[in-house]
Amino acid sequence: MSESLKKNSRSLIKDAVKARDFNNLNLIYSCEQCSYFQPQNGLCNLGFPNQVHRQDNQLKSYNMSGKFAFCRYLEID
Ligand code: SF4
Repeated sequence: MSESLKKNSRSLIKDAVKARDFNNLNLIYSCEQCSYFQPQNGLCNLGFPNQVHRQDNQLKSYNMSGKFAFCRYLEID
């Protein structure tokens, strides 16, 4: 994990998700599922620093802590 990701992770509020819910529900938790995500360059259309919300990092966080750093601006069409 990069230093900037560690630094940003410390100030984030993360929400616990039960394993049962993670396994049974179609959770929306990452930039890759968001309408504002730019797949061509991995950036957020709203200009937010999005490393912690990217799918790989969200899954790492969940595997380590059982929590996701949900983005409050995530939107799906
Ligand atoms: S709004 Fe949030 S979830 Fe959507 S791309 Fe930007 S940082 Fe990611």
